[in-house]
Amino acid sequence: MEFNHSPLQEIHESFFDDAGVKVFVKRLDLMHPYISGNKWFKLKYNIKEAKTQNKDTILTFGGAYSNHILATAAVGKEYGLRTIGIIRGEQHLPLNPMLAFAKKCGMGLHYTDRKHYRKKEDSHFIQRLKNRYGNFYLIPEGGANYLGVKGSMEIIKEIEIPFDYIACDCGTGTTIAGISLSLNNGQEAIGIPVLKGAEFLHPKAIDLINDYKTFEGTINEKSSYNENFKLFYDYHFGGYAKSNATLEIFIQEFQTKHKIPIEPVFSGKLFYAIYDLIKQEYFKRGSTIVILHSGGLGINQQQSTS
Ligand SMILES: *Cc1c(COP(=O)(O)O)cnc(C)c1O
Repeated sequence: MEFNHSPLQEIHESFFDDAGVKVFVKRLDLMHPYISGNKWFKLKYNIKEAKTQNKDTILTFGGAYSNHILATAAVGKEYGLRTIGIIRGEQHLPLNPMLAFAKKCGMGLHYTDRKHYRKKEDSHFIQRLKNRYGNFYLIPEGGANYLGVKGSMEIIKEIEIPFDYIACDCGTGTTIAGISLSLNNGQEAIGIPVLKGAEFLHPKAIDLINDYKTFEGTINEKSSYNENFKLFYDYHFGGYAKSNATLEIFIQEFQTKHKIPIEPVFSGKLFYAIYDLIKQEYFKRGSTIVILHSGGLGINQQQSTS
């Protein structure tokens, strides 16, 4: 898969100087025109594992606007793997641009009502899917497994400056689990959940970290892992994909000033939160903060039909 280099870009605001911090944006959003930057990291070792297991089909889960579904469809096409997307909710026609694109990549779309979707990790449900679609390789919703964590550990390798904090938006917590495992002593990860009531993300990220260590065989070693990430739950703006005038105005002003595209579902909330935390002087004076821009700008009609 071909990806562009993702530059590190410094941004300036006078209140950064007042708080004594430097802020850089890691532009994973520039890696690809429509695959969210972090999605490739979460998929790469899963694809490799599917190939190792000689599976010709990947099955995964997501909502109708899921960047993970889109990325899996595109990556599956690229690697010659059949893909099946189990989509939460009913089919709506015409398909939205993201699902239309996934279908064009060859993904089979299978709709499941919310009640069944909730049971997606249940072995009976998975067996029924296997009866129907054959012996697929399963990637959990959002790429949330230890191989997703393993890929996410590589994100910070490409950051060529020393930094004290790295911030990202969180859906399943996989990206921050990988980042957490890859930090040096003294560095801290800041996660901004985009869902309401996302307190479950903390134990989930810890579970993912432990799954990774179990599979890599490092769980019994006296591991040096210190909990080095912190989640801030109050920047969801009402819930997933919810927004309000405050967030919209912030996004407009930010884009005008910095010429970096952001959107209300993920990155808008992330940048808003970090600005707010800087103003509250959460960050130590003299520190450097890297904000991970994972993209998530979706896909427009033109890309989906071209
Ligand atoms: C998928 C996605 C996330 C969520 O990442 P997790 O690893 O599930 O926490 C965050 N930001 C963007 C832009 C995404 O597309």
